[in-house]
Amino acid sequence: MYIQIPEKVEQILDVLHSHGYEAYIVGGCVRDAVYGRDPEDWDITTSAAPQQVKELFHRTIDTGIEHGTVTVMIEKEGFEVTTYRIDGEYEDMRHPKNVYFTKNLREDLQRRDFTINAMAYSRESGLIDIFGGRKDMKDKVIRCVGSPRERFSEDALRMLRAVRFAAQLGYSLEEELKETIREMAGNLRHISKERVQTELVKLLTSQHPDWFRLAYETGITAVIMPEFDRIMAQRQNNPHHAYTTGEHTLEALRHIGPDKALRLTMLFHDMGKPEVFTTDEKGIDHFKGHAAYSAVIAERIMRELKFDLNTIRRVVRLVKYHSLYPQLSGKGVRMCASQIGPDLFEDFLKVKRADILAQHPSVIGDKVIYLEQVERIWRDIQMVGDCLSLKELKISGKDLIQDGMKPGPQVGEILDELLRQVLENPLKNERESLLCEARRLREKEGAQ
Ligand code: ATP
Ligand code: MG
Repeated sequence: MYIQIPEKVEQILDVLHSHGYEAYIVGGCVRDAVYGRDPEDWDITTSAAPQQVKELFHRTIDTGIEHGTVTVMIEKEGFEVTTYRIDGEYEDMRHPKNVYFTKNLREDLQRRDFTINAMAYSRESGLIDIFGGRKDMKDKVIRCVGSPRERFSEDALRMLRAVRFAAQLGYSLEEELKETIREMAGNLRHISKERVQTELVKLLTSQHPDWFRLAYETGITAVIMPEFDRIMAQRQNNPHHAYTTGEHTLEALRHIGPDKALRLTMLFHDMGKPEVFTTDEKGIDHFKGHAAYSAVIAERIMRELKFDLNTIRRVVRLVKYHSLYPQLSGKGVRMCASQIGPDLFEDFLKVKRADILAQHPSVIGDKVIYLEQVERIWRDIQMVGDCLSLKELKISGKDLIQDGMKPGPQVGEILDELLRQVLENPLKNERESLLCEARRLREKEGAQ
């Protein structure tokens, strides 16, 4: 087994080795290299104590010194170097109360969650694989280091991490591990929302976002997102649909790129359906107005999970408008883009496509043709650079006030009306004629 280690990382290992310490790359980077994908970061584990690491390198940062982690800076790049450690007793299924440093690599590897994450490597020693990580990678299976029950009692997040790694790598969960999640998923309640969010995003932006199903099957979603369990049980007896709302959602996730906000949008887009579910006299199910409810649920879940405001805003808007069907005309598409926000219209088109591709096979063809027409009209609008928002209108509130209007809500109302007219006919976006129209509107108002 040979792993190509970046030069700067090799440099750090060499310095540690030449001073008589053991040092290896470890964890995620070894796993990724064996798997054949480029590691995002290269972590180093060493027998040297944190203080000794600090003495050997020019520039270091005390990243998590109490846990033994020092960041070594090589030029502008930082690399985490962590002393071999054993995690002490766990206080609350989250944090080890203490960590103890050790001189024994095996003990350091043993504290890690899964066999695939518990391998170390150096040029001199090759792959150190005490727990059979490489075999599990061959067999494509996620297995705990040691007993799942013990490992999940120490840190409940590991249950969600197991599903996340399965989705990223396309692996299955080892049977005992899976059974244990079913029994212990409830403990995820004690895990901080931020940690849950991180793993959830990695799961959703993975190669297999639809493996979110595994989180459902193992009882994880029932704890961290019960709204998802609700849509898994939501039938939709309707010519547009072939699956339950939940299955449609999982399918839709597969049809959109690995962007965080877009994947979250697909996850949430139909969560409001159970709220508005009705069945007509012919036995056909309807979900009128579900998008608005989905948007409310999406916002609530994302706030609970402490998502950043930018992501929340983007996702909520996309969910809220995902079921719009713009009319096939310049005017129709301009009005729709203006309503959603022109900055999100490209995303909206992606969301629509994913939503359509997850519907009943008999309706997909026509809807895709429709969507391609919308896309064509949208390209033309962009090429011409039509005005789509108040920002692009050739006059502003300030202009209206200079023209003698009293400041107040009426200014906004007139601007909205002018924008509406310009969306209908882009040629009207011309300063003088807009001013004239504004005066006319004011007179009309005044006369009433
Ligand atoms: P990613 O590629 O997403 O960063 P990773 O495996 O590097 O995945 P990290 O969270 O960066 O995951 O953790 C680095 C290593 O630390 C893991 O490979 C694993 O060995 C160990 N580790 C991380 N979190 C835990 C945990 N909750 N329990 C046990 N070991 C963990
Ligand atoms: Mg990592």
